[in-house]
Amino acid sequence: MKIVIENVIKKFIDAKKNEVTALNDINFSINEEEFVVLVGPSGCGKSTLLNIVGGLLSPTSGDVYFDGIEQDPTLGIVFQENALFPWRTVFQNVVYGLEERGASKKEQKEIGNHYLDMVGLADFRDAYPKQLSGGMKQRAGIARALAVEPDLLLMDEPFSALDAQTRTLMQEELLTIWNRTRLSTLYVTHNIQEAVYLADRVIVLSRHPGQIKQIIHIDLPKT
Ligand code: ADP
Ligand code: ADP
Repeated sequence: MKIVIENVIKKFIDAKKNEVTALNDINFSINEEEFVVLVGPSGCGKSTLLNIVGGLLSPTSGDVYFDGIEQDPTLGIVFQENALFPWRTVFQNVVYGLEERGASKKEQKEIGNHYLDMVGLADFRDAYPKQLSGGMKQRAGIARALAVEPDLLLMDEPFSALDAQTRTLMQEELLTIWNRTRLSTLYVTHNIQEAVYLADRVIVLSRHPGQIKQIIHIDLPKT
């Protein structure tokens, strides 16, 4: 799916009743099968933009189009951490979205197992989140996001809480997984190295006042 972000402005009113411009006229698109990374310092508006693209937050003005129209896309979202339901097994977490939309048990089993295999957690399907390492939890989170077969994959600093070695490993694994699905993806990080490694295109946001500073096209194909 192609996503077009047009003239997006977002203003908040802070605790002192001052108006804060978090995003000031943002324009870019995420093409079909494109991995776009948003990078920038803390407070530059990355999460706000991700939430607006995902329809979780309304812009003050501007529009987000999905294949040319304003609609609610199916989203797969991966958060930084702690987003798994602790009382559900890995498998039950992965099929959560399918269950919510009324998929049959058979369908849940097929799709759930497929994505558990893809992220290398087949042997942990009946484990509970607390039994998993940090990297494994994020892999379960990725499987859960993919299981709904989304139009758009949103990832908000998914590996930031991991140690450096695990983070590098997870970046490699994410690309292997991503190449099997090639979903339009918007990935947020404050780490420029991670951005350049993962992205087809890097959108650099500047701190003041939430504007695009530069768009970097990465021409090397991801392997
Ligand atoms: P980032 O994800 O890049 O760290 P955010 O999108 O979280 O940045 O925040 C961008 C700016 O908007 C910051 O100045 C932040 O304080 C402000 N902001 C974000 N959410 C709110 C909110 N709900 N109310 C007031 N200000 C907010
Ligand atoms: P679903 O929302 O799909 O029915 P569950 O059946 O796992 O998910 O749980 C139903 C609701 O009950 C959850 O949304 C949650 O708020 C609450 N809940 C269930 N089990 C627990 C638990 N062990 N700890 C905290 N909350 C729980």
